[in-house]
Amino acid sequence: MQVPDIIIAVDGYSSTGKSTFAKLIASSFGFLYLDSGALYRGVTLFALERGLISAAGVDEAGLRSALPGLELHFERDEKGTRLFCGPRCIEGEIRTMEVSSYVSPVSALPFVRSWVDEHLHAFSESGRVVMDGRDIGTTVFPQAEVKLFMTARSEVRARRRYDELVLKGENPDFEEVLHNLEERDRIDSSRAVSPLRRAADAFVLDNSEMSLEEELIWLQGLLQGKFGILEA
Ligand code: C5P
Repeated sequence: MQVPDIIIAVDGYSSTGKSTFAKLIASSFGFLYLDSGALYRGVTLFALERGLISAAGVDEAGLRSALPGLELHFERDEKGTRLFCGPRCIEGEIRTMEVSSYVSPVSALPFVRSWVDEHLHAFSESGRVVMDGRDIGTTVFPQAEVKLFMTARSEVRARRRYDELVLKGENPDFEEVLHNLEERDRIDSSRAVSPLRRAADAFVLDNSEMSLEEELIWLQGLLQGKFGILEA
């Protein structure tokens, strides 16, 4: 299907399959995929490794002064899109439960959000981008031509995340996974800067009972209607 040069923003709750769907959109329509959550996770890993997160919370002053020294970029190859910190691939490390449990407080910091937003704008200069996150349609690209807001029942989301972690060789506790994603949703939705919320012009996609294939068919229908594309 010939999709025009647009920006597609995919926002929504934790573990609703935003990145899986956004990657499928990118490969189906020849778009560049950008994972904004990976950058927040990269900043969190950096803060953990520098000892800037403790039981007392995030050392904001320390992180603010160290952040300009952080170099994150994406590399794309047959393995997909992976996040690098300088020469080091950190794609695996940013997906652990430890990073997941600190990422929301780190991403609530306004200077962290500005740093990530600047990178997202720089990475997407060429247009024809699909980006997933929490505030893409509201703050990062409010002018995005297509905005999706993904949701699903929390137990369904926790089960997906749990299965993902098991596949990676971790030994997660289901209740802990469920608690982590509900807690992230709570912090993400209630923070002062760029909270997670549906943009007024976003289309809601509840995929609790949908396969990935059905999601793509739903989107194709939406794009056909919106842009008057006749052929699939
Ligand atoms: O998408 P993912 O679950 O990897 O995102 C990790 C965390 O990064 C979220 O829980 C949220 O705290 C933060 N995030 C954000 N804004 C975005 C993307 C992610 O605050 N646009």
